[in-house]
Amino acid sequence: MTLHADYDPDNIFAKILRGEMPSVKVYEDDVALAFMDVFPQSEGHTLVIPKQVEARNFLDMPTEKLGAYMARVQAVAQAVEKALVPDGVVVTQFNGAPAGQTVFHLHFHIIPRWSGRALGSHAGGQMADIGELEGIAQKIRPFLA
Ligand code: 5GP
Repeated sequence: MTLHADYDPDNIFAKILRGEMPSVKVYEDDVALAFMDVFPQSEGHTLVIPKQVEARNFLDMPTEKLGAYMARVQAVAQAVEKALVPDGVVVTQFNGAPAGQTVFHLHFHIIPRWSGRALGSHAGGQMADIGELEGIAQKIRPFLA
């Protein structure tokens, strides 16, 4: 059911795109917005969402818009890697609530991983300190300029 439904223009990420909800941004152009996840699964957990499209998930995304969007996803993943020097990077995405999706505007997660450091739970746990997120974003931004 959540896999195929009408796009809700009041979802949290649509509000962030319209500037109605705050976010700690790392990159924005006319194709995509990247910002820090407020319930990060690891230090540097970043989300990349497409702009100017009502896509709930990857399956909904117009194919002709996918290339430009995925180029931004890769650019943000590369910037996170350069800024934070993790041992690995998870790039992932969920489609439909049974698959783990909780916000219904397409997004890719970029989650740095370090050997021996446990991964936090998905879409749960403690809200991050916004000052700390801003500090991490400041490290990532120069690699996207
Ligand atoms: P999903 O579960 O849909 O794959 O991922 C949604 C992500 O959005 C989760 O990782 C969750 O922590 C994050 N998230 C939920 N609400 C907010 C919010 O208001 N601001 C930000 N920056 N991230 C959010």
